[in-house]
Amino acid sequence: MNEIEYKLYIDDVIRRVETARLKVSEHHIVKIVAVSKYSTADEIQRLYRIGQRAFGENKVQDLKAKAKELEDLPIEWHFIGNLQKNKINNLLDINPSLFQALDSLELAHELQKRLLAKEMTLDCLLQINSAKETSKHGVMPEDAVTIYTQIINECPNINLKGVMSIGAHSEDKAVVRKSFETTHEIFTQLPNTSICSMGMSGDFELAIECGSNMVRLGSIMFNK
Ligand SMILES: *Cc1c(COP(=O)(O)O)cnc(C)c1O
Repeated sequence: MNEIEYKLYIDDVIRRVETARLKVSEHHIVKIVAVSKYSTADEIQRLYRIGQRAFGENKVQDLKAKAKELEDLPIEWHFIGNLQKNKINNLLDINPSLFQALDSLELAHELQKRLLAKEMTLDCLLQINSAKETSKHGVMPEDAVTIYTQIINECPNINLKGVMSIGAHSEDKAVVRKSFETTHEIFTQLPNTSICSMGMSGDFELAIECGSNMVRLGSIMFNK
């Protein structure tokens, strides 16, 4: 695809997001985070030139390398992957715009310690394992509100902005919908939240219909 074809292709993806959000409400704004984990710095730049500004990575070392390579561009970096404790300081050195995968109270406490030591704060989302899949990270739906409140009370350097979830791994659309509804229901019960991050390349329209206001699109944004 040349530059013009790629722009038309992206316009079409944006139109799909637009159609889905208008089904919810004219006032329902959805942000696209382009997940660049399978893409090179050149490919990120190409999408940046079309107008995309928020990009997400799921490995700290990849985020570090790409953020460094593209440091001249005002990119908003999101970290969307599982964070191991021994990588916390590396992540904080990059100072991402949003850490979307805070998945336990234990990790929150560890993160709080490091943030305090560095005199920093970090915007985060609590990851919810809405379909209770053993393959996925995140807090159980029934514990989410309690843990969210505990993090607010015990971790003053963590700014919780809302929730993140990956849709159920299923061919059955009703099962995927149920998992998004579970996350959105939790989102509505939390204090001062603004972000409900759910929906990927294969299920973003359904996620938006269920109330998502941030979609994380990888393969579809980079045409892979
Ligand atoms: C890879 C990834 C995505 C994007 O997946 P696609 O199916 O390529 O859109 C979104 N969220 C998370 C947490 C991911 O790891």
